[in-house]
Amino acid sequence: MKNPATSDPETSGGWQLENTYARLPAPLFTRQLPEPVSAPQPVLLNTALAEELGLDPEALNSPSGTAILAGNALPRGSDPIAQAYAGHQFGHFTMLGDGRAVLLGEQKLADGTRIDIQLKGSGHTPYSRQGDGRAALGPMLREYIISEAMHALGIPSTRSLAVVLTGETVLRETVLDGAILTRTADSHIRVGTFEFAARCGPDILQALTDYTIARHFPNCAETANPALELLSATAARQARLLAQWIHAGFIHGVMNTDNMAVSGETIDYGPCAFMDAYDPETVFSSIDHHGRYAYGRQPGIAQWNLARFAETLLTLIDNRPETAIEKAEDVLKRFMEQYQTAWLATARKRLGLTASEPEDEALIGDFLTWMREAAADYTNTFAALCADELPESAPFDQAAFKTWHARWFARLTRQTGGPQTARQKMRRVVPAVIPRNQKVEEALNAAVNDNDSGPVQSLLKVLAHPFNHGGIPKEYCTAPPPGTPTYRTFCGT
Ligand code: AMP
Ligand code: MG
Repeated sequence: MKNPATSDPETSGGWQLENTYARLPAPLFTRQLPEPVSAPQPVLLNTALAEELGLDPEALNSPSGTAILAGNALPRGSDPIAQAYAGHQFGHFTMLGDGRAVLLGEQKLADGTRIDIQLKGSGHTPYSRQGDGRAALGPMLREYIISEAMHALGIPSTRSLAVVLTGETVLRETVLDGAILTRTADSHIRVGTFEFAARCGPDILQALTDYTIARHFPNCAETANPALELLSATAARQARLLAQWIHAGFIHGVMNTDNMAVSGETIDYGPCAFMDAYDPETVFSSIDHHGRYAYGRQPGIAQWNLARFAETLLTLIDNRPETAIEKAEDVLKRFMEQYQTAWLATARKRLGLTASEPEDEALIGDFLTWMREAAADYTNTFAALCADELPESAPFDQAAFKTWHARWFARLTRQTGGPQTARQKMRRVVPAVIPRNQKVEEALNAAVNDNDSGPVQSLLKVLAHPFNHGGIPKEYCTAPPPGTPTYRTFCGT
């Protein structure tokens, strides 16, 4: 086992790292090497993503590549740090930080883009608190599957480059195999990072603000009020993101402010899952006792998180507190409007409505109301509407559905191209498949209990093409039969 502190950095494999975040003032991070592990073993490698990053998949799959992905060796240009952050967890403020992750640096792409490369499960850091700094195989594979599914659905997300076994065990309720996920992101700057910086004083906050603007929203730098524009640009991205989550039936599960990325990517896949039967009250997370992060509450929670973000920026927005609050409140109000606009635009596409008619919103709303009352499967019901032939089976045999369907069909007939063209377009926005909870569990069980990553690989292949209507094996699309106990998810530690 090599000690990354003393061995030479790996120069092969296409690594072009630089850690600009590590040039920020000290309290925002701590230099931290990954803790070496005893026997790294590759489990999954995302070849397509590696290539996008300019990395050589073959080199990554070799023992020296695996050593990097396990934290036993450092790639060229890396400058590993653990980032400090705070956050509101279920509404309560806490000091946090990367307790089991290190940021190696940013991979510089040919077009000038920088992508964070983070090892998750890489050992203790100064922010580990009581934790062991490690991760178990199941949750890391789960993050890999769901984040890659989100990406394929066109939803901004952190991505997963690889999972390796550490050769060591971790103790949770039972003894489990330890693993490390290599996560990529536009950055790991969270709302909680600003909450931390704001408590460190004006210079630190200013430094983080300038860095974030330069990295994600360079246009804001040229404006009269960069901090206000940063808030506004972040809110606009979150509005679009939340509309995408809601349309995909995605439930993040733990929308704490430390789990909201300022870049607008979905981040921190713990107890997340996709809804089966349509119900805005759906909660999967075993720790979300009051449904704070229920499916339908997510846009409101995003707004709440943005309010915490706004609070950190007030002094930079205006030195008159009341004026600063007024300006920030305008942005937060606009967030809900932007969300509604983004939601409605996609809702129209999902039902194939091209031209606009005054009754459209009622048509969409009535469909959702019916789905809820019928406990219809969210994904499959939309997918069925895209098909040329509608099934005659339940719930499509219900009178309430037939009445709605006649209205919808008449509506499509009135527009150019009629139902045929509408359905073709719908098939490009309505997924035929989502990561079904039972399929995810089945695949994880095979990998974790039987050392067989085959089912995970097969699932990933299917999820990489979610709009492949008619081409997806039925088993991946089957909704849980009525009476199936509610799916439960756990925080992935
Ligand atoms: P999460 O629930 O993954 O968003 O994590 C919340 C906080 O707990 C973050 O600061 C994590 O770094 C930290 N954390 C989670 N699991 C561990 C662990 N096994 N060891 C140390 N810190 C952890
Ligand atoms: Mg987190």
